[in-house]
Amino acid sequence: MRIWKWSCLFLVSCMILTGCGSSSTQKADSGVAAGTSQKQVEMAVPPKGIPVLMYHMIGEVKDNDAVLSEAHLREQMKFLKDNDFHPISLNQLYEYMVHNKPVPVRPVVLTFDDGYPDTYSIVMPIMKEYGFKCTVFIPTYDADQSTRLTWKQIKEMQESGMVIASHGYHHNRLSEMKEHTLDDEIEKSQEELQQQLGITNEFFCYPYGGNNPAAEAALKKAGIKLAFTMNGGWAKYGDDPYAVKRIWIGNAVDIANFKQRVTTEQYDQR
Ligand SMILES: [Zn+2]
Repeated sequence: MRIWKWSCLFLVSCMILTGCGSSSTQKADSGVAAGTSQKQVEMAVPPKGIPVLMYHMIGEVKDNDAVLSEAHLREQMKFLKDNDFHPISLNQLYEYMVHNKPVPVRPVVLTFDDGYPDTYSIVMPIMKEYGFKCTVFIPTYDADQSTRLTWKQIKEMQESGMVIASHGYHHNRLSEMKEHTLDDEIEKSQEELQQQLGITNEFFCYPYGGNNPAAEAALKKAGIKLAFTMNGGWAKYGDDPYAVKRIWIGNAVDIANFKQRVTTEQYDQR
């Protein structure tokens, strides 16, 4: 009896030491990875805002700061995972910016612009690997063009958990359009997203970042609730939801500067 009791105690001690049977010690995320167990993520209202990271093409192109190497992207995502950051959805960002709702601690938003084929071939596998949420802004006219994503790929990305949203129809600057063109440009994009993906889209990214009061009003009329610029800075509660700031991520951003961009709103804008 006594031996049995000590054996039991030994077994329980081993389970605690190895984490066996204790799912709360696992680093599961609330992202898109399948098969990971969920842990309770601490929620809070971030007092200084949320960094919304802006990516474009991923690949090996020299002398173009907008094209980030895959190695850099991997290093950055590993940093976020290792340091327990939580990539949140645009809905969570909206609830925080407009209603001051809490979000997972150490929040960050990942956005990829333009719909390049590498968003499918490089970014999607990395997001799956880390279980991260992200959003892809597509100029819908460009889909199925030779150098861009196909609707088939976009659909697959959507099914993997990536949020697909509008980057306009022709990728033209909204702030330079007359009212009827403006409405047309936004409505066509909304219609295509509805037809191709079955979504009523609520998020928009200004091509070239160009926004003005007329563009903001047109987006509001079309049912958009958050619109993203290329103006640098963190997104804060009370900011204009039609002029959300984002943080540029290019090849010149090394890991030390990346760390700064996601940990302080006073980051070095090089
Ligand atoms: Zn763009």
